[in-house]
Amino acid sequence: MIEVRNKGERMDNVDIIERIDHAIGCHYCGGPLGDSPSEDFCTYGHQRRWNDLYRRLGSVEAVAEELREEQRRHREAAEHAAAMQRKITATMSELETAFGRIIAAFRPFALAAATTSQVLAEAGLLPDRAPEDPARRALWLRRHRNTGPKPGRPRPPRTLNRR
Ligand SMILES: [Zn+2]
Repeated sequence: MIEVRNKGERMDNVDIIERIDHAIGCHYCGGPLGDSPSEDFCTYGHQRRWNDLYRRLGSVEAVAEELREEQRRHREAAEHAAAMQRKITATMSELETAFGRIIAAFRPFALAAATTSQVLAEAGLLPDRAPEDPARRALWLRRHRNTGPKPGRPRPPRTLNRR
């Protein structure tokens, strides 16, 4: 309890703090300060122990801060991975659309090519193909066998020119 020293005397702030400190007593044990030279501790030992505790409390707070930082980094990494995944998915669907357009663009050419080869086949302009029937096929293959270079055409070299 803070008491007014003299009736009508105003206490300034420093005075009040001093009185509160005195009322609280030793910061470590809460006991009376007695004739201690310190304004906060009853003995030097209690001052040292209190400082020690305070330092450890500080390191606990530092560890907690490190953990919070680590959690923040993990959260950021997870968000980054999710963003990359979304980007990949978007790119894949864009590619699908693009390929769809390319295929659609080439379809008329493919149809035209099919029609052209049909027309050429019907006109008998496509190179001869071996028949499916085995006997006819054997005959056809014999007729179309490689009989070597035609007269007037240069022969291929007999040996490889190794240099
Ligand atoms: Zn104490």
